[in-house]
Amino acid sequence: TTRTTVTADVPTDVTSETTAPRKRMLTGDRPTGQLHLGHYVGSIENRVRLQHEYEAFFIIADLHMLTTKNTRADIDQVSANARAMVLDQLSAGIDPAKATFYLQSAIPEVTELNTLFQNLVTVPRLERVPSLKDMARSAGKDEMPYGLLGYPVLQAADILCVKGNVVPVGKDNHSHVEVTREIARRFNSLYGDVFPVPELVESEITTLVGTDGQAKMSKSIGNTILLADDAAAVRKKVGGMYTDPNRVRADIPGTVEGNPVFVYHHAFNDDAAEVADLEERYRAGRVGDVEVKEKLAAAINRFLEPMRERRAEYESQPGLVDEIIVEGTERTRDEVRAVTAEVKKAMGITGT
Ligand code: ATP
Ligand code: MG
Repeated sequence: TTRTTVTADVPTDVTSETTAPRKRMLTGDRPTGQLHLGHYVGSIENRVRLQHEYEAFFIIADLHMLTTKNTRADIDQVSANARAMVLDQLSAGIDPAKATFYLQSAIPEVTELNTLFQNLVTVPRLERVPSLKDMARSAGKDEMPYGLLGYPVLQAADILCVKGNVVPVGKDNHSHVEVTREIARRFNSLYGDVFPVPELVESEITTLVGTDGQAKMSKSIGNTILLADDAAAVRKKVGGMYTDPNRVRADIPGTVEGNPVFVYHHAFNDDAAEVADLEERYRAGRVGDVEVKEKLAAAINRFLEPMRERRAEYESQPGLVDEIIVEGTERTRDEVRAVTAEVKKAMGITGT
């Protein structure tokens, strides 16, 4: 696997960094379940890395959830999922003293920006965004809901409402960031320079395959290894993983490329010599799936162990996560109010 990281510009001038306001990172997740290894490689790894250079805002995107999940039962899960997702991110190494977490639906100015941005993009442009059709299909919708077509516009409001500069997201979100960039440019050209044009931060692995071999590990499919899984759960899930289907016996040469077990070895096993040895023996038909999987489960557990320790620390502070979400939402709302006022002023919407 080739590993190419596209990194957005990082401030190098320390003096200007201390005097000018810090650039901002905006990203997040829909509160549809707990976070998994796919989220980690697609976005969270970059969140952890970039939190020291950028002021971090992490959205809990419950309005985005409504585009595919809007029953009362779905909505009733938002609070629990929001808490779990914040805890997952703290466990993964996000520093609560640095990052701001906020609940999207508690900031009505975001929907006001969404309304104002709707006229900066065309319907055919949105119809060309590939992920929307995939989402409609996997949500079992025959026809595209209006809100789902507008998903990238609302996401532009999320990113621009805090004047986000960098957006670390997985592959399914790349085309959304492109729409945000177009909306920012269009706004600036019509009404004057208000917004930065945000940069996509691409991860090394842009889409992590599922344990079942399906293209994307996804909470909706249930082919995940959760950041919150314990060691036994990891062993069980890895033991049941999809591998090379043509390899019915250990002495048959196997294919490493695209094989989920080896994709995970490359992503999570810190012992490169072990991975190289397993690959060589797999190709030669000299190692069984059981050994490959046992070593993978051990590697993933080594990878998750520091997260488990941090999780236990945060879990021992009752009320902490709720406080983080409430305070972060208040702080973000203040920011968004100011940006919305600036937007309306630039547009000449004065209320008189
Ligand atoms: P849902 O099934 O509800 O859409 P999801 O698992 O796709 O959930 P999202 O909240 O839609 O999660 O995505 C959050 C972030 O994680 C996005 O940046 C997305 O690109 C990234 N992401 C999600 N799954 C993967 C994956 N398998 N590989 C890489 N990145 C991923
Ligand atoms: Mg998704």
